[in-house]
Amino acid sequence: MPGSFRIGNIAGIDIDINVSWIIILVLLTVSLATGWFPQLYPGWSTATYWLIAFLSSLLLFVSVLLHELAHSLVARRRGLPVKSITLFIFGGVSNIEREPTSPGIEFQMAVVGPLTSLLIGVICFLLQLPLQGSNSPLEGILFYLAVTNILLGVFNLIPGFPLDGGRVLRSIVWRLTGNMRQATRVASLTGQVIAYLFILLGIWLFFAGSILDGIWLAVGEVMNPKPTTVPANISLQQLVDAYFLPGGLRYALVMQADHLVGLITLSDIRHIPREQWGQVPVSNALIPLSRLHVVTPQQSLSDVLPLMAGRDVNQLPVVQNDALVGIVSRDAIFHFLEIRRSLGVDTSKSDAQNQLHHAA
Ligand SMILES: [Zn+2]
Repeated sequence: MPGSFRIGNIAGIDIDINVSWIIILVLLTVSLATGWFPQLYPGWSTATYWLIAFLSSLLLFVSVLLHELAHSLVARRRGLPVKSITLFIFGGVSNIEREPTSPGIEFQMAVVGPLTSLLIGVICFLLQLPLQGSNSPLEGILFYLAVTNILLGVFNLIPGFPLDGGRVLRSIVWRLTGNMRQATRVASLTGQVIAYLFILLGIWLFFAGSILDGIWLAVGEVMNPKPTTVPANISLQQLVDAYFLPGGLRYALVMQADHLVGLITLSDIRHIPREQWGQVPVSNALIPLSRLHVVTPQQSLSDVLPLMAGRDVNQLPVVQNDALVGIVSRDAIFHFLEIRRSLGVDTSKSDAQNQLHHAA
């Protein structure tokens, strides 16, 4: 592999590192030091976070190296020469110089890698059990290695080329049919199907995940609790000059002596000829409360979004015990979901709300 350098030799097998590996090491260390460890183990010093993050990243690569060594050592014992192991951006690769000569050899060579990862994962998990809750760096490292190695083992057992599970599948089909070429076709095809499933899953998570994830939120979390209200007895001209133009508003709730009486929007104003704006009071142009659908802060977005779509309205007043407590708009809901998605799902509620209200 171009851009690789040798760091050593284990049992006669050269160990190479590709420069892309260093990029991943840095990225992984940063994400562990600023995300994973501070979230799971609050209270360590900054230096500890960085040191433990760096150590954990290195140990993860040692785990990947052990996974590859397992493939290589079994291959060599079965008579297949192994030149080197290269660690690169996506993990590790064993440079085995010949294809296995029988399905049994292929099966052993392939399955031993994921088994090694699972074994490391289980050992780390057992070692961290007595430390659980201690919030110690050792607990942190062991737990991280347990999670990543078990994931590594399970992921690699997915039965499609080029994963180890694909080779396991090929060896089984090869044994059953006695035909290596046919077995290769089956494993390649399964690999393609699985790759497409992963792509579809990714697309689905990207588009649906954020909305589905946010749709169970209550209206109260997304609503604007301080909506602009206007008196019912001013003229449309006053409404436009004093509220809509200076505030860049598209709608406002209309109040009469502390009571919500309706909603007025830009399109309601546009329906009245401009020369009449000075004479027509807001109360004559508004959508009265009786024709407005109101929601409560406890209702979920899954109730409210279909309501908005079905009635083609962009905003709904939020009412609690006959008193106006806010307004929820379609824009704000999508904006809120967008912010949640771009910041990740573990966004604290208050952060997203602050951003929403700044933007609203
Ligand atoms: Zn492997």
